[in-house]
Amino acid sequence: MDVAASALNHLDLWLRQGLPKPKAFPMVPGCDGAGTVAVVGEGVTRWQVGDEVVINPSFACGRCSECLGDRSVFCAKWGIMGEHYWGSHGEAVTVGEANLVRKPPGLSWEEAGAYGLCGLTAYRMLRRARLSAGETLLVVGAGGGVATAASAIGQRFGARVFATSRDPAKCLRATELGAVEAFVSQGGPVPVKADVVLDSAGSPTWSLSTRALKPGGRLVTCGGTGGVTVEVNLARLFLSQQEVIGSTMGTFTEFDELTGLVATGLPVVVDTVYDLDDYPTALKRLESGAQFGKVVLRH
Ligand SMILES: [Zn+2]
Repeated sequence: MDVAASALNHLDLWLRQGLPKPKAFPMVPGCDGAGTVAVVGEGVTRWQVGDEVVINPSFACGRCSECLGDRSVFCAKWGIMGEHYWGSHGEAVTVGEANLVRKPPGLSWEEAGAYGLCGLTAYRMLRRARLSAGETLLVVGAGGGVATAASAIGQRFGARVFATSRDPAKCLRATELGAVEAFVSQGGPVPVKADVVLDSAGSPTWSLSTRALKPGGRLVTCGGTGGVTVEVNLARLFLSQQEVIGSTMGTFTEFDELTGLVATGLPVVVDTVYDLDDYPTALKRLESGAQFGKVVLRH
């Protein structure tokens, strides 16, 4: 397919540090993308040349019991486009037919190319944490791709969404995007107790996140961008009957459901758009941590 727009993810920064080391060079990164089908391979039945599509970056075998049971995230062959396979940060990319969904009409290319990986991750996190209408969600680290998507999805689920950030401007932006309140925090306690806390920073925010849980609360994590080793107070965990839930990516069904939400108005927050030629500048923008929402490349 010809890529019209793609987005950057923290994974691109990890990859640049050799985490994981690519199997061979050259390696084209890029997990997210949207564009137009340019050539159709042999045996493809779902797509025609000219179709406008969005990439689902999850790879799985499609034949094992996990895949057939719609648990593709547990497939032994599971992988991510742009990490384990060549990705979307190029003029064109080869994608399996199961890895495409129809681009929701009304979405810009930039939005369509930006919601995939982080949106899918956030959607599965909130499902695994069983967030329901009327509950309170605390999103730690407003502005990150997963955090921004989680805030929007949480609101869509009918939850009262709160956020934290070290940056007052990001707190303001979070409330503009519908958070009830956002707290400027240096990792200390926040004045809210939540049914679900969503954290992807890891060690710098772990104390804040665990202390913000209500009895029976669920802390869901998808990463440790600031450090992966944390301390767990078991007394607090069992006496308050709390849960710590790990989550990564999502299934093909979850991607379809997420696309349904985006097609019906779930906002996709785009921070900045760069030309593909400005890729190094876009990476610097992501590395700075100053972004709110997705850093996008226009191809
Ligand atoms: Zn499989």
